[in-house]
Amino acid sequence: MDVRVTAAILAAGSGVRFGGSTPKQLLPLAGKPMLQHSLEAFEAVGTIDAIVVITADHLIAAVADLAGAVSPKTTDVIAGGATRDASTRAALGIVPDPDGKILVHDAARPLIAPSTIAACVTALDRFDAVGVAVPSPDTLLEVVDDRVTGIPDRSRLWRAQTPQGFWVDVLRRAHAAAAADPDFVPTDDCGVVARYLTGATIGVVAGSPANIKVTYAEDIAVAEALWRRSRATEN
Ligand code: C5P
Repeated sequence: MDVRVTAAILAAGSGVRFGGSTPKQLLPLAGKPMLQHSLEAFEAVGTIDAIVVITADHLIAAVADLAGAVSPKTTDVIAGGATRDASTRAALGIVPDPDGKILVHDAARPLIAPSTIAACVTALDRFDAVGVAVPSPDTLLEVVDDRVTGIPDRSRLWRAQTPQGFWVDVLRRAHAAAAADPDFVPTDDCGVVARYLTGATIGVVAGSPANIKVTYAEDIAVAEALWRRSRATEN
């Protein structure tokens, strides 16, 4: 029997950098709430069995209404934590199958393509973990205070996106180890595996530069333009 695959969509951020009074994940983007774009993308992938949405406590009812309307695969809408890794751990706490796969996705990346999601599920048959990423077109600087302390070779640098995929047991073990280290504040889940599960293999799945993270208010206009362009090339 095929392994069970759960998608965990993280939508419990507070949107401080974005600003405004409407929660970012429910703001309209190209005519529908931002979160709906991700729900529809995961819903469309045949190898995704279940979707869990992690959101802020006060948004659970609104998000459950939305998910109920657009995403029959959604099994749970639960409260996240104060940090992104705490929200991932909340998802891990309710995933039923320790032998299954889990894809963790940021709701702030509404332009994720179903084909990229499907590629993550498949790639996990070769790796302990996988992350969607794109080669960096920019040279990246390591900066401490106002000093450049390193300029890593750009040809080896990729920008991490989501989803990131894991065997459930792998991600659980990595997060259990990370939780015991108060100094580590991870910004993604592959980073947790890389740091705490020595020897774990992490594969890369080529993403699209269009899979941007909507972080600041001005990103909405960029995302809408990219969304229109993707619709134009589909039709
Ligand atoms: O803050 P950051 O840009 O890393 O957030 C990435 C994603 O993680 C967003 O979709 C956000 O809603 C989610 N998140 C979360 N719980 C938090 C912080 C962020 O689910 N406490």
